Amino acid sequence: MKFLISFILFFSFSFGAYVQQDVWWKGETLLTFFEKHNIPQKVYFDLPRTDKELCSEIYAGVEFQTMFDDDGVIVQTLIPISEQMQIHVYKDDTGQFVLDIIPISFQEFEQNIQVSIQNSPYQDIMKATNNQALANEFMLAFKNSVDFRRLQKNDIVSIKFKQKIRHGKYFGSPEILAASVKMKRKTYYIFQNPDDKRYYDLNGNSLTSFLLKTPLTYTRISSKFTYKRFHPILKRYRPHLGVDFAAPTGRKIYAAADGRVIHKGNKGGYGKTIIIRHSDGLRTLYAHLSRYNTAIKVGSWVKQGRYIGRVGSTGRSTGPHLHFGLYKNGKAIDPLKMISVTKTKLEGEKRKDFMKVATTLKDQLDNGEKYATAPIRLEDFETSYQI
Ligand SMILES: [Zn+2]
Repeated sequence: MKFLISFILFFSFSFGAYVQQDVWWKGETLLTFFEKHNIPQKVYFDLPRTDKELCSEIYAGVEFQTMFDDDGVIVQTLIPISEQMQIHVYKDDTGQFVLDIIPISFQEFEQNIQVSIQNSPYQDIMKATNNQALANEFMLAFKNSVDFRRLQKNDIVSIKFKQKIRHGKYFGSPEILAASVKMKRKTYYIFQNPDDKRYYDLNGNSLTSFLLKTPLTYTRISSKFTYKRFHPILKRYRPHLGVDFAAPTGRKIYAAADGRVIHKGNKGGYGKTIIIRHSDGLRTLYAHLSRYNTAIKVGSWVKQGRYIGRVGSTGRSTGPHLHFGLYKNGKAIDPLKMISVTKTKLEGEKRKDFMKVATTLKDQLDNGEKYATAPIRLEDFETSYQI
């Protein structure tokens, strides 16, 4: 079975036009891209502040498509900024270039797989699914609870996960909903809590030691996290991939968790920005700073609570505030959800809700044969952009 990709619907094909697939290289910005293709810089500079921030979310290594006319002149381009949204630059009816943020179309599949261990869980999951990101996420999810050296041949790994597919390839990061490792004497489980997206064991104990602290003393939250908000008046999508903490200029900002500084410098609409890489595939981003702690360099290891910079409004933000972003495996997630988790054990209503979900999922893992899905064959999916 072949699936049509709705991506092509955005393109009006004309004779001789062609689509080129490229990878966004490290160091390229929307402005350097515009310059290369003779798109006027004002298309970027006339954007509202929130759209400028979103343009800074383009990540190095992302695949994007550009359509050229028969003279090799750019007509349209689509560049993902998250797993949900993409930048669309195109010529409108009057021949002027316009930038818009639109949803990405993809297909998402829920899979239940069972793998009998022959070599190592990593290798065997790779062999069964050809999905490296899934194998990585599985190892990460169990790293604090299972000693994989104790696994024996024919032990069983069961995973229930969601995976996006786009243009005939895996797209974005797989989401493990539940998984188990069945060893001779004991079965180990992990369950993703829908409320905070963290992994817990059967009793609602957190399996990650990672805790995030609020990075400053703030006045109020001026803008919350939204993945795909549609603005009813503007009739446009305006996602906000972080939390804005309003605070006076100069207020100190602290590292939200231990980690290594991987970016310190200007980042388009985010202005002066610091990015820290933590354990468990997590990163935090601190934007619109007025100044940095000069003792902190790219490559520095910082402890949680270390002073890293001061609140400002660089990058054309409206008033002084900290835009605080949190990413797991490159995917933006709501920082407030992670900050609110201050305990390592779920209690009360939260535990009740979790236990309901976990009980259903445990049954599916325990009866893996019954719930097993046919493996995804990427070759069954359409990869071409031609209609
Ligand atoms: Zn913001």
